[in-house]
Amino acid sequence: MRLMLLFLILATIGLAQQGTAQSGHTKSGPEFSTANMNMTANPCVDFYQYACGGWMAENPIPADQSRWGTFEQLADQNRTILRGILEKASVDDPKRTPVEQKIGDFYASCMDESGIDKLGIQPLDPELKRIDAIQSKDQIVDELVHLHLIGVAVLFNFYASPDFKNSTQNIADVDQGGLGLPDRDYYFKPDAKSVQLREQYVAHVRKMLELAGEPAAKSAADADAVMHIETALAMGALDRVSRRDPNKTYHKMSIKELEGLSPSVDWPKFFAGLGTPTFSDLNVSVPDFFKDLNQVLANTRVADLKTYLRWHLLHSEAPLLAKPFLDENFHYYGQILTGTTQLEPRWKRCVRATDDDLGFALGQKYVEQNFPPGAKARVLGMVQEIETMLGQDIQSLDWMTATTKQQAVVKLHAVTNKIGYPDKWRDYSGVKIVRGEAVGNDERATEFEVRRGMSKIGKPVDRGEWTMTPPTVNAYYSPLQNNINFPAGILQPPFFDNRKDAAVNYGAIGSVMGHELTHGFDDQGRQFDAEGNLQNWWTTDDAAEFEKRAQCFIDEYSAFTPVDDVHLNGKLTLGENTADNGGVHLAFMALMKSLENTPQPAKIDGFTPQQRFFLGYSQVWCQNVRPEASRMRAQTDPHSDGRDRVNGVLGNMPEFREAFACHAGQPMVHAPACRVW
Ligand SMILES: [Zn+2]
Repeated sequence: MRLMLLFLILATIGLAQQGTAQSGHTKSGPEFSTANMNMTANPCVDFYQYACGGWMAENPIPADQSRWGTFEQLADQNRTILRGILEKASVDDPKRTPVEQKIGDFYASCMDESGIDKLGIQPLDPELKRIDAIQSKDQIVDELVHLHLIGVAVLFNFYASPDFKNSTQNIADVDQGGLGLPDRDYYFKPDAKSVQLREQYVAHVRKMLELAGEPAAKSAADADAVMHIETALAMGALDRVSRRDPNKTYHKMSIKELEGLSPSVDWPKFFAGLGTPTFSDLNVSVPDFFKDLNQVLANTRVADLKTYLRWHLLHSEAPLLAKPFLDENFHYYGQILTGTTQLEPRWKRCVRATDDDLGFALGQKYVEQNFPPGAKARVLGMVQEIETMLGQDIQSLDWMTATTKQQAVVKLHAVTNKIGYPDKWRDYSGVKIVRGEAVGNDERATEFEVRRGMSKIGKPVDRGEWTMTPPTVNAYYSPLQNNINFPAGILQPPFFDNRKDAAVNYGAIGSVMGHELTHGFDDQGRQFDAEGNLQNWWTTDDAAEFEKRAQCFIDEYSAFTPVDDVHLNGKLTLGENTADNGGVHLAFMALMKSLENTPQPAKIDGFTPQQRFFLGYSQVWCQNVRPEASRMRAQTDPHSDGRDRVNGVLGNMPEFREAFACHAGQPMVHAPACRVW
């Protein structure tokens, strides 16, 4: 039901939970406080425990959560605000605006639990009949078109994206996809835990097929067939670390050449069915995947392909179906994959569904209530301070020559800042929302988004558009647009808090700003130029110096173990770790500049501004995580876990060492101390 963030490259500050979602049992709102600390811990031994130990002890993970931290608490607060907006909008009042009618009726339809339960599988009957009617492989492509239009991205992904080497233009992009497990590696890893997860996955597919009416005698073989198809697709898919290298996902070719890789798909028919404008060239992100796809289509029986399509339809729509589907979906994706024991309350799932499908209508109401006009200017002022610091930082680097420095500054000056919400709100007047049709509303809203995406192919890129909705607690840098984006949802306490001193705010939101800005210069971002084109602007020697310093991060973070003996993947998390380290450094520079005229600033709560800065940064990352979720994230999340985001960064900083009088040999004083920016 949900559109993935269909962008090859987007560097964020955090990754939303997969499978299930947040819920709230917040004792107090998320905010910076010395009460969150554990003063008995030694800051030079484990700063994370020192800054967050009190919070961690007081905030166990709620039953319906896989991870619970400051991010989740704030997201939960935002969701409560959205609930208020949606409950008001769902009252059937003729005076509602068109936007209120859409979000209100969408939400009310999703909330109608008894109505949904009474319908059972019925909302999917027309879809299942379409699949049943397929007689031959030639007819598969028509169904591919239809399923892609309603957001069921079977076999592969297809979307519009800025051309890596002509970034002001959108081109069509076909990419690997079509899997039901969280990552391609889940299909192959030989360890006992991974084998078990695969067995449980096949059992889950089987159960879902049975719930949709398949006889038990047939469902076991069918679930095996699904697993067989997905494993074959996964074989050709590129791994996550390789996908971070833009040169490995850029292969512009003609439709004719794509037909050469995958003649089994009638590509012109597929594109025409989706209503794309005419085009001749496109990006085939992973050519090997499309060779394998051809084999899958050639070697698989029609009956098995139909089962695969049926499974993905059920999987995609399960969150809006009757209780048995909902529960079985949660059992695998919530309980088994993330260790969450309880499904979150319906209103939270429905707020999320509305945000997913009509997020810029809902977001418009959120901004009216929660982001006063003055906030934008204050945030912008702070972003500009951080940008000035990066300019100074670049000039001060002893490892980079003047030639590359000059190019880096050109890129820095070209960065644009987007704060809070889009200048122009998305027009949803083309989406029909009917009270009582939870699945239908979702399909129509998704089709609207898919068609909107298709219409961009061959057109100039609209850099004013956002890929996160305004209430989202996250932020991102887009290397293809060279812009940083801060949704209103994150510009709230404890990230940004008018009641707190500047040191805390620099540590929290200042570090987030620095993080996003640094993404323009991490291992991935640095490969794009000021205009967002994939083009090298580094001298060979400077690039080698960069790689050498990046390797220090790879080695450092690879040694961290967020759960049991599971190590972080230093290469997968390199961009985020680079951004964390650079971001805190830049924000600290900005704090020091703000203190220039205050030689002896007063302590607050017994802490100097420098100490409060590091505490402010750290408390943004206070969290508790279930071991199952930690294990999954270590494989799939490009971000390190909270503890390592704090201890990893601060252990590299001489400024931290000085602020807390730590000495060489203590755990929070890393040797070597890694630094790029
Ligand atoms: Zn990031």
